[in-house]
Amino acid sequence: MKQYDICIVGSGAGASPVAYELSRAGYRVLVLEKGPYLTEKDFTKDEIAVSRRSIYTPRLREEQHVVETYDSDGSIDRVTAAESGWNFWNGSMVGGSSNLMSGYFHRMKPVDFRLRSAFGPVAGANVVDWPISYDDMEPYFTKVEQLVGVSGRVVEHPFQERRSTKDFPFPPTWEQPISGWFDTACETLGYHSIPTPRAVLPFDALGRSGCSYSNFCGSYGCATGAKGNARAALLEKAKATGRCDILPNVFVYRLDADRQHVTAAHYFDADGRPRTVTAGTFVVAAQAIESVRLLFNSRNDFHPDGLGNANGQLGKNLIFSAGGSGQGRFEFARLNERQRFELMTRGAFVNRSLQEWYVYHQNGRAVKGGTIDFLFEHANPVSRALRELYDDDGNLLWGRKLQARLEHAFTASRIFAFEVFNDWMPTDKCFVSVDESVKDKWGVPVGKIRLYGHPQDIEVGNYLAEKAESVLRQMGAVEIESDISSAPPPNLVAGGCRFGTDPEHSVLDPNCKMHGIDNLYVSDASFMPTGGSVPYTWTIYANAFRVADAIMAALKGRETGYNNVKDS
Ligand SMILES: Cc1cc2nc3c(=O)[nH]c(=O)nc-3n(C[C@H](O)[C@H](O)[C@H](O)COP(=O)(O)OP(=O)(O)OC[C@H]3O[C@@H](n4cnc5c(N)ncnc54)[C@H](O)[C@@H]3O)c2cc1C
Ligand code: SF4
Repeated sequence: MKQYDICIVGSGAGASPVAYELSRAGYRVLVLEKGPYLTEKDFTKDEIAVSRRSIYTPRLREEQHVVETYDSDGSIDRVTAAESGWNFWNGSMVGGSSNLMSGYFHRMKPVDFRLRSAFGPVAGANVVDWPISYDDMEPYFTKVEQLVGVSGRVVEHPFQERRSTKDFPFPPTWEQPISGWFDTACETLGYHSIPTPRAVLPFDALGRSGCSYSNFCGSYGCATGAKGNARAALLEKAKATGRCDILPNVFVYRLDADRQHVTAAHYFDADGRPRTVTAGTFVVAAQAIESVRLLFNSRNDFHPDGLGNANGQLGKNLIFSAGGSGQGRFEFARLNERQRFELMTRGAFVNRSLQEWYVYHQNGRAVKGGTIDFLFEHANPVSRALRELYDDDGNLLWGRKLQARLEHAFTASRIFAFEVFNDWMPTDKCFVSVDESVKDKWGVPVGKIRLYGHPQDIEVGNYLAEKAESVLRQMGAVEIESDISSAPPPNLVAGGCRFGTDPEHSVLDPNCKMHGIDNLYVSDASFMPTGGSVPYTWTIYANAFRVADAIMAALKGRETGYNNVKDS
């Protein structure tokens, strides 16, 4: 039997840096991934497969979640995902959901690491400072820029975070002319337009091909390898060392542990046969909800409430990215010929953001705000058509009326959109556990997700959406609207295994090693006690590189110390 130093559960942004660093350092690594091994040649742009059949996620009747929400009277509504269609899976394949991301990348800012100190407590929320600072993370953000490949251009703005390098290693991708319209509108309004950093290579580099501007980025796999997904960017290189084995189509259902050590991982192989693997160190990176589920399902006599749950904190403080989205329409009839021509340029990215209100002041107090990304509506014609199904009064359209509306949408106008990202307050009311009464196709209890959005999330989201709308208005868009709600975006999920220095109130220590267990690390987004007001993936990658260093230091008999948090 092959011996492994490290066994990693999952293969996404939280897993791949550990596999990459440890295998290159000479350790023998095994990656266990429940999804298939898909590569560039498998990623066709099949709209029906993506929009209507969700081919990159499990079938809900075979693998699902139980979802609980609060009714207006405080009682709990419970539905299974198979009944409701509420899908909390992201991307199940080697490389995880990073295959399907749009690659809008922002670093967290120094203030995100000390939310509690900077803004004080929030009633009904469990806001804390991180046990590490931006300075601790900065070298790892830089590493991700260079190894995963982040393109962009640094510009001065009020919330530009400190950097150890002057600019991005890759220049921005090809920009759509509307980016110039956006810059002009921002200049008029006195806002600082920011070129959005992207985990997309503008040209061939790092052993991968550059972007072909397919226009199908978010929700689709990348056929060139330009997108900084975990497989193309890191796992293929880990595999090339000859010391990293990647097993696809295997589902890990339990970890064995004695009082202080994980001793084995149990999984079902591609043929459904139960298997066991041992290793010196185990890393769980199965995405926030599934990592927590695995740790609960690994309960035993030493850990009767689940691994890492002696203090009842496992699964608590589940967070999502708060905010929402909005849009405006550019009517060709209102534009001159040059503008129409510019607007029709296909393929190029908008790549513009605003972080003007990352912190703002309201009623005499400082409020943590967030990020707004601007983009065109997704090119997928199915989703574009679905937007047009109802008239302005909410009536379902069909026949000639629908035909006319679709014709107008596709040939006489273009939708310009925005996405708002702000903090989802961590609370006692939003968490993951398991539901013993609902099992998946392997007979394993499924994850149960209790959802709750704090009112502050919506207040801040609306504030930012109004600012975004003002830019669209200035640009000349019409039919401007936004939708900010407490509905969680399932693709941006974190928390559940909060890291911290106090073992009573956290699941992981500052190195993301489980308190009380010497050889178990959790390296996906579940470690995050708060989310920052940016999409998560750059932070997940960066932290997993940091965890890789901590594992290597521990294997060499040294510990890294993060007890002295530097103020940034
Ligand atoms: C459509 C879309 C667009 C996005 N756009 C952006 C964006 O623009 N910017 C951004 O920052 N982020 C974006 N994201 C989010 C980003 O993809 C995720 O935050 C990130 O990839 C999460 O990484 P992870 O390692 O925590 O989890 P995942 O990538 O989900 O990896 C977990 C892996 O573990 C596997 N797994 C789960 N359970 C088990 C088990 N028991 N045994 C074995 N394997 C298991 C899963 O199959 C999966 O492959 C987007 C996501 C989607 C879906
Ligand atoms: S080729 Fe470019 S636009 Fe197409 S999926 Fe890859 S990164 Fe996105």
